[in-house]
Amino acid sequence: MTTLAERLSGIDARIAAALEACGRTGDEITRIVVTKFHPAQLVRDLYALGVRDFGENRDQEAAPKAEELEELDCHWHFIGQLQSNKAKSVVRYADSVHSLDRQSLLESLAKVTEERANPLDVFIQMNLTQDENRGGISPGDLLRFAEAVVAVPTLRLRGVMAVASLEGQEERDFELVAEASDRLRAEHSDARFISAGMSGDFELALTYGATHLRIGTAITGNRA
Ligand SMILES: *Cc1c(COP(=O)(O)O)cnc(C)c1O
Repeated sequence: MTTLAERLSGIDARIAAALEACGRTGDEITRIVVTKFHPAQLVRDLYALGVRDFGENRDQEAAPKAEELEELDCHWHFIGQLQSNKAKSVVRYADSVHSLDRQSLLESLAKVTEERANPLDVFIQMNLTQDENRGGISPGDLLRFAEAVVAVPTLRLRGVMAVASLEGQEERDFELVAEASDRLRAEHSDARFISAGMSGDFELALTYGATHLRIGTAITGNRA
């Protein structure tokens, strides 16, 4: 049995080694620990180990957790599919939404952030499959959608987000994301980040330029 502290430092060591192997520095890396399915206490334990960036994928679970932990300086990253009717709740605690994947959600986020003092950070979630019905923005639609995002003053476009689609295709997927990111960055220099890489593929994602790693089980252990 390993402890939480051992798993965290083990992952950080692997991140550092992967970065060194591809000649990158850690300056622009945000390691997000995904705490879905785990109680608020696990967030406290991670916080005590220095973690500040946490990821959640369901508002029903994240909202009460964030509220219970309000006194801590946690940065909450919302990474799951977001129903438009939950947008209002999510923007109360989330500093960033990684799963902006459609026009209707953009409109909802614009509306619920209208009164906000600091802009909400958003990543455009990519659809890397040929299946138009899958969630996410296709590479060919990225720049047009990005124009609509940057037109909303209360949203700050940070970059692209992706979940590798199929086992065995991670390499191709991360390459598509890197290409999409290059095109986005050429138009919007601030939108330079790439949210990609999970427990099973973060080292590969790092070689393709990932900046925001979303790591769950490799750190937290299996869901409670
Ligand atoms: C759960 C989840 C993760 C973390 O997955 P692990 O395999 O546990 O590291 C990352 N991204 C998203 C969108 C998730 O839902």
